[in-house]
Amino acid sequence: MPETIGVNVTQSKEPLPAGVKLPIYMDNHATTPLDPRVLEAMMPYLTGIFGNAASRNHSFGWEAEAGVEKAREQIAALIGCTAKEIIFTSGATESNNLAIKGIAEMYKERGNHIITEVTEHKAVLDTCKKLEKQGFRITYLPVKADGLIDLEDLRNAIDDQTILVSIMYANNEIGVVQPIKEIGALCHEKKVLFHTDAVQAVGKIPVNVINDNIDVLSLSGHKLYGPKGVGALYVRRRNPRVQISEQQNGGGHERGMRSGTLNVPGIVGLGAACEIAMNEMESEAKREIELRDYLRAKLEKALDYTQVNGNMDHHLPGNLNMSFVYVEGESLLMGINDIAVSSGSACTSATLEPSYVLKALGLGDDVAHSSIRFGLGRFNTKAEVDYVSDKLIDVVLHLRELSPLYEMVKEGIDLSKIEWAAH
Ligand SMILES: *Cc1c(COP(=O)(O)O)cnc(C)c1O
Repeated sequence: MPETIGVNVTQSKEPLPAGVKLPIYMDNHATTPLDPRVLEAMMPYLTGIFGNAASRNHSFGWEAEAGVEKAREQIAALIGCTAKEIIFTSGATESNNLAIKGIAEMYKERGNHIITEVTEHKAVLDTCKKLEKQGFRITYLPVKADGLIDLEDLRNAIDDQTILVSIMYANNEIGVVQPIKEIGALCHEKKVLFHTDAVQAVGKIPVNVINDNIDVLSLSGHKLYGPKGVGALYVRRRNPRVQISEQQNGGGHERGMRSGTLNVPGIVGLGAACEIAMNEMESEAKREIELRDYLRAKLEKALDYTQVNGNMDHHLPGNLNMSFVYVEGESLLMGINDIAVSSGSACTSATLEPSYVLKALGLGDDVAHSSIRFGLGRFNTKAEVDYVSDKLIDVVLHLRELSPLYEMVKEGIDLSKIEWAAH
């Protein structure tokens, strides 16, 4: 266990409210727990039904294949496509790689230009960077201060060399939902393929590849209460028929687009997770929005100098990204070490870098570092939200008591006019 430095308000003396167990998980954009109903659906495929779905000669194979085909139907029903248009992968990182590299390779005679945006997941950004090294031209669209792209920017970026636009459905840090239907319509008007990383959206808000004009879509099991290490790629078969060059060679599984023995229990779990999400989406979204707005209102009432990041009118139900200005992010996280949330710092290296997503919105490094991403999910309760907000308020007030900057601001000193002594 890491030692708690400085802040000792974490050791609460009061007994825990009923139904609250520590630590509290509120980081559902990073991953979600497996729904027990999903595990139940998977169990037979982890034990008795162990066949290889590609074995065509006996019942072991047929049973496994039946489980896989049912899952294909369940996923297709959730996103409004046909079962034949689903390709199974090891997760959304692979789906994004396969989609972008596969299209780049297949359509490179037609053009070498790809458009994406600066706030994409690394699985998209780093894939594009790799293609850039191979001679493709990549446009990284900026986002507005609210996290949404400007459709005019997209229109202006498309030229006669453009083969693909890849814009995420919903952002994993700030929860903003892009105008996907309009983006897709523009792409179709310009005869450019449209891929979307829909990991955070699928199962949370309505996603329909036909209504939304999507050609290729990535999704992942573990972001919607399914298992880790399994995902899917939707590849449109009509109007237009999309072709993807395979990135992994072998037995020719998944219509040649993704070779490799299928992860049958994982796929069955992903299918079950999609069916549950579809049945419960409406009521669950309503519940999470209520919890999120309650959390926000409580924090805003008790604390000054907070700000909410990302457009809240086009937003995921369970996401709240908030900055607590004049508080140091690391101390904040240490103060709430019995709560699992994410901060506005990406600890990708030894040095703590501010999140590139928050920076793209125009946040300064200090504000980005003071930001917390709350990811509410299916298993969070109101009692947990109460515990989290009370605790956070305590810690922020305490840290600000120690903060000379906060004191100066309170005294009316304009921090931007101060000349700091150089070290
Ligand atoms: C988690 C996530 C991914 C990566 O998915 P994996 O299945 O973990 O590889 C890609 N994009 C977004 C937006 C994500 O949130």
